[in-house]
Amino acid sequence: MKKAKLLIIGSGPAGYTAAIYAARANLEPVLFEGFYTGPAGGQLMTTTEVENFPGFPEGITGPELVDRFRQQAIRFGTEVISEDVESVDLQSYPFVVKGRKTHYEAQAIIVSTGATAKRLEIPGAGDGEFWQKGVTACAVCDGAAPIFRNRPLFVIGGGDSAVEEATFLTKFGSRVYIVHRRDKLRASKIMQERAMNHPKIEILWDSEVVHVGGDQVVRNVTVKNVKTNELTEHEAGGLFFAIGHTPNTAFLNDQLEVHPNGYIKVFKGTHTSIEGVFAAGDVQDHEYRQAITAAGSGCMSALDAERWLAEKGLDT
Ligand code: NAP
Repeated sequence: MKKAKLLIIGSGPAGYTAAIYAARANLEPVLFEGFYTGPAGGQLMTTTEVENFPGFPEGITGPELVDRFRQQAIRFGTEVISEDVESVDLQSYPFVVKGRKTHYEAQAIIVSTGATAKRLEIPGAGDGEFWQKGVTACAVCDGAAPIFRNRPLFVIGGGDSAVEEATFLTKFGSRVYIVHRRDKLRASKIMQERAMNHPKIEILWDSEVVHVGGDQVVRNVTVKNVKTNELTEHEAGGLFFAIGHTPNTAFLNDQLEVHPNGYIKVFKGTHTSIEGVFAAGDVQDHEYRQAITAAGSGCMSALDAERWLAEKGLDT
């Protein structure tokens, strides 16, 4: 079994920032970037233009930003393994981390595996026949595609993401409907006002999408009013889920304490319930979920791990 002082699981802004800091602190980090379970690089890989990451006044695409993180981490000596982590043993010490082929003993671990957008199992959507043929979980990633141009578009959800995505989609669709299961949005007041005042956005209250239909691509959705049970078929060019995210923690097999919503609990910066294991980025943050906040917590996790290893005399 190979040995690492610090092993980082996940290759988004949190993981790579942790790697850059740890490598510069001579911790010779090993980073599992993933392979099959979601794209290596995380959610930025399915984002088009990133315009709010400081330092890129003209904007930068998500994949290019990740590639730059990766190059910077490698430049300072990070070893990147292109495998998914399938299991970890945090009860033994050193911790054991098993990739598909490569197994490591690690003195400290940073978990930065991010989160995945949730989907609904609606006939025709979810994993159904129209997934990625008009049905997606990321308006910002996919909204500019030609199939959505000048068509009525539907966003499911009532939070900030739903409003943000609906507003974004008004650039492309003929009209944008927010389908929300209740009669009140969860989104912040300013976002609510944005949705309600936008001439191209209409909110379908107390409603859910119960069917998606079409041919090669989505052509219509059926919306049910949950109070009256009335069904209405609408012409549609796209359906976007904006119903929140699930943190990517399955491989941890319940070994770390999590909040009721499944996000990893952190204490004193990025420490988790197991000494020597740290968490950074969206896997422990259901609130901010930004590339820059993930990068910031990745930096914190590397500094926390460095201090912890030094206190234990394990940093040499
Ligand atoms: P969220 O706040 O958890 O909202 C999820 C929405 O999806 C809720 O309205 C919820 O309905 C609905 N929903 C959940 N499960 C559903 C289901 N099975 N069927 C139908 N609807 C369902 O998630 P989010 O909007 O992704 O936001 C997450 C966090 O990121 C929030 O803290 C938010 O403030 C932040 N954020 C901020 C911005 C910004 O400020 N620019 C942008 C995006 C996100 P109910 O309301 O009935 O529960």
